[in-house]
This record gives sequence, C-alpha cells and structure tokens, in this order.
Amino acid sequence: DPAIDAGSAETLSLLSELRRALERDELRLFLQPKVALASGRIVAAEALVRWQHPERGMVPPMQFIPFAEQTGFVRQLTLWMFAACAREWPALQALGVQRVSVNLSTRDLLDLELPQRLQAILGRCRVPASAFCLEITESAIMDEPQRALSILEALSAMGFKLSIDDFGTGYSSLAYLKRLPVDELKIDKSFVMAMERDADDAKIVRSTIDLAHNLGLSVVAEGIENASIYELLRGLGCDEGQGYHMGRPLPAPEMAAFAARWRAQALPAPASDSLLVATD
Ligand code: C2E
Ligand code: MG
Ligand code: MG
Repeated sequence: DPAIDAGSAETLSLLSELRRALERDELRLFLQPKVALASGRIVAAEALVRWQHPERGMVPPMQFIPFAEQTGFVRQLTLWMFAACAREWPALQALGVQRVSVNLSTRDLLDLELPQRLQAILGRCRVPASAFCLEITESAIMDEPQRALSILEALSAMGFKLSIDDFGTGYSSLAYLKRLPVDELKIDKSFVMAMERDADDAKIVRSTIDLAHNLGLSVVAEGIENASIYELLRGLGCDEGQGYHMGRPLPAPEMAAFAARWRAQALPAPASDSLLVATD
C-alpha cells in the first residue's frame, strides 16, 4: 500500500532527523518558573524541551514527543534533558530555585536501568537527587503498573521527588496513588484555566487540593493565566503554581534575568495569611 509506504518513509526520516538533532545540538532546554503562591517567590522550575530545527524554527514538544515516545527515542531525550538540568543546577540554585522538574515518559518507566543512568549523571555533575522532581503522567504508570512501581520506588529511595503530572486526566486509580511513593500532585491546566467560568472545574481543583493535602502531598497548579486565578488558588491553599501569568517557558540562560525582574516587581503581598484563615 503506497499510503503506508509513504507514512513509514516519513517516520524513518523524522527519526533520523531527531537523532541528528542530538548530534547537532539542536535540542534546547527551556525552563518555566514555579512560584510558591503564598510568598510569591520562585522556588522551582519545570524543564521543557524545544527543538531548534534548522528549517522549521523552534518546534514545540507536542510535535515530536509523541513520535519520540513511539520510537523509543524519548529515552535518549530524557537523559539529554536531565543532564542539561544538572549542568544548569549551580546557576539555578544561586537564584533560590530549590528543585527542577523533569518530565519522564512511559518508555522511561519501562526501563529498569533508568535509576542507574540518572545516578551516573548526578555523579558526573555532582548534583544531589533532591535537586530534582520527576514528573510522570497517570497513563505512563498505568501502562505497566508493577514495573513502574518498582522503578518509582527505586527513584524515590535515591532521593528524587516524584510528581503526578496532568492529574485528573488519566486513568489512575486512587488505590495506586496510595501505594506510589509520590510527593506532589500537579493539577492539569485544563481544570485550572477554566476554573473561573466553570463551577465543576472549580470543584475539581478544590477537591484535588484537599485530596493532595489529606494524603500528605504538596499540590501544584499549572496553567495560571491571570491574577484572579492566582488569587483563587492561593485562597484554596494550593502550594505552588506555574503559568503564563507569572512567566512562559524561556531559554535556560534567560532565567537569571527573569528572576531579577521578578524580584524587583511588587510580589503579591503575603497578606495571604488572613485570606487562608478566612476560607478555612
Ligand atoms: P506538561 O509537562 O504538562 O507541561 C506543561 C505545559 O503547559 C507546557 O507546554 C507549558 O508551556 C504549558 N503551560 C504552562 N503554563 C501555561 C499557561 O498558563 N497556559 C497554557 N495554555 N499553557 C501553559 P509545552 O512546553 O508545550 O509542553 C507540552 C508537553 O510536552 C508537556 O506537558 C510534556 O508532556 C511534554 N514535554 C515537554 N518537554 C518534555 C520533555 O523534556 N520530556 C518529555 N517526556 N515530555 C516533555
Ligand atoms: Mg510536566
Ligand atoms: Mg502537565
């Protein structure tokens, strides 16, 4: 079938392009600040990959991550991102950043050698595991729960923080959530972005914050696009947030200038205490 043939030829060429992207140093580490909502301080950052393609320009991850997942290439990409963050760590730490979050894929959670691969990078760059949070999606865990569980237990024992990304959109069961060694829930941006206009989304956000806290986990909201959503979340006791309202993902070398601008601007007044008491 010529249609299938054309498809597989395209797949092959994209795969070799991706491999070349690594060799030619075309991948870029972008960072998005994560803010502690009560204090307004930048306390963490999420690492997000971009592909600086010679013809196509800056390619967003959704245009190549799913394909990288299918072909298994994503495992090399994860190690590249992890090493790039480890190299960036001293500069980030100097800005007051306490943790960098790196996204893991389904394929990573099937790789029993992942913990030792990450350990080798930590040793080489002299960075402690506690500097990292590893974000995993519910569907990645549910793909092969037993294997994922044993890898996650090993990673947690090494000192990595673990977070469930896009929480609420996958097929996770609360029975698994209870057994997993996770530290953080990350509320999916679809709920956060709609919480001002959709009462159901607001309830989901509120319940997720309560669920996380009742399980002893911290909770992060992604997709905070305006000041009123920021304030709503702060009132609900959400611990951290990230979103375009605070800052878009930016090239790693621009983080220091961003943090300086952020500190200089008026931070949200820590009068949040009274707000928290009022809603309790
Ligand atoms: P994610 O891990 O859930 O990352 C959050 C995404 O939400 C990022 O999109 C970020 O730019 C976007 N975002 C943050 N704040 C806002 C906001 O206020 N409004 C809106 N509309 N969007 C916001 P990005 O960078 O395009 O990444 C998309 C997805 O690609 C990520 O979702 C993650 O699943 C995947 N990805 C990105 N980098 C990597 C990576 O290094 N490894 C793996 N395995 N996946 C990655
Ligand atoms: Mg993420
Ligand atoms: Mg997410």
